[in-house]
Amino acid sequence: MDKREEFLRDQRICMNMNEESEQFEGAVIPPTFGNTLFTFKDFESLIDAEKSQQTKYVYCRGTNPTVEAAEKKLAALERGEVCKCFSSGMAAISASLTASVKTGDHVLCISHLYTSTMDLLKYLSKFGVEHSVVYSIDLEDIEAAIMDHTTVIYIENPTDTYLRIIDIKAVSALARSKGIRTILDNSWATPLFQKPLTHGIDIVVHSASKYLGGHSDLLGGALITSREIMDSIFKKEYLLMGGALGPYAAALLLRGLRSLPLRMLGHQENAKKVAGYLASHPEVAAVHYPGLPSHPDYEKASMFLTGFSGLMSIELKNESFEQVKKVINAFSVFQIGVSWGSYESLVLSPNYGYNVEKLKQERISPGIIRLSVGLEHEDFLINDLHQALQES
Ligand SMILES: *Cc1c(COP(=O)(O)O)cnc(C)c1O
Repeated sequence: MDKREEFLRDQRICMNMNEESEQFEGAVIPPTFGNTLFTFKDFESLIDAEKSQQTKYVYCRGTNPTVEAAEKKLAALERGEVCKCFSSGMAAISASLTASVKTGDHVLCISHLYTSTMDLLKYLSKFGVEHSVVYSIDLEDIEAAIMDHTTVIYIENPTDTYLRIIDIKAVSALARSKGIRTILDNSWATPLFQKPLTHGIDIVVHSASKYLGGHSDLLGGALITSREIMDSIFKKEYLLMGGALGPYAAALLLRGLRSLPLRMLGHQENAKKVAGYLASHPEVAAVHYPGLPSHPDYEKASMFLTGFSGLMSIELKNESFEQVKKVINAFSVFQIGVSWGSYESLVLSPNYGYNVEKLKQERISPGIIRLSVGLEHEDFLINDLHQALQES
């Protein structure tokens, strides 16, 4: 299937999959199952259902029809066997990692990752799980950083902050040859623009709080993998740690998914224009966006990405906190806030003034400003960037 056919197939999954109205008295969208538990006609039926809680409805910390509808769509979009939705992206990431390590194991992180993922890895040291970061995307460097006790390679593609593109096919083949599991956070690209499982990745995780939801009105996460891996995660990390997605958030997620293909095309179009404008701006030292032809991985990106979303970072020529603060405060269309991936444009910097030394240790330029390009008209966005950078 070519890129366009895949996209059309995904659009049908997002809009129509499992939403046949005849199942629900003609309701155009399925009703939301807000119940906590299911009742049975006799005790034997309950005993029977408890044996296969992953497919039978018993208690909604395990399975709920509304949540399941979102899970089926996400599994189909990722071309994976099964998905479970979680109460947040971090709940999904915690489950993926704790399911994959034991005391004495080592997790290798490739380049920059989402801050809370790094903090979770630091927390896991309390259980004797080690981690290290290889600040390179070259296969030889990655291979050299693998240790005897490495059991997981953790990836974001593109990487956080600098949006470098990793050859995930080569990395997953390398990992597989050494019996190492690969986990990839696909929140940036969404399954519409990157399908890591088809390149050999073992587990895909998402923050659904970003593009999948798309309207800054829900917290959620997802984990997509093989049936074999999920069988274990469901019984342990999902049911026991209890980070299930609630049905009302799942209904919002289903709503978000219906417009995901159109929104992603909109983010892509706006982001390309914004990146193009910033690339020639005299106050901007660099634009980190893989959809820009001048990005070091622009060619490689087309091996894995079929599109580009709206999150990018720029580096100011003047890297001082004073300057970063001044520029951020000068925006009016871009709002100041954490998170990203929603219809509204947001701006932020990892430079909080007091943490410059730490940023340098983590190889992050203090002049970085992160932009989440939303769905406002491009003219508003570019005018806002123009005036905010001029102010400085
Ligand atoms: C936000 C984010 C997460 C965490 O998701 P939550 O839903 O906030 O828990 C994980 N990974 C990436 C890349 C993120 O941006």
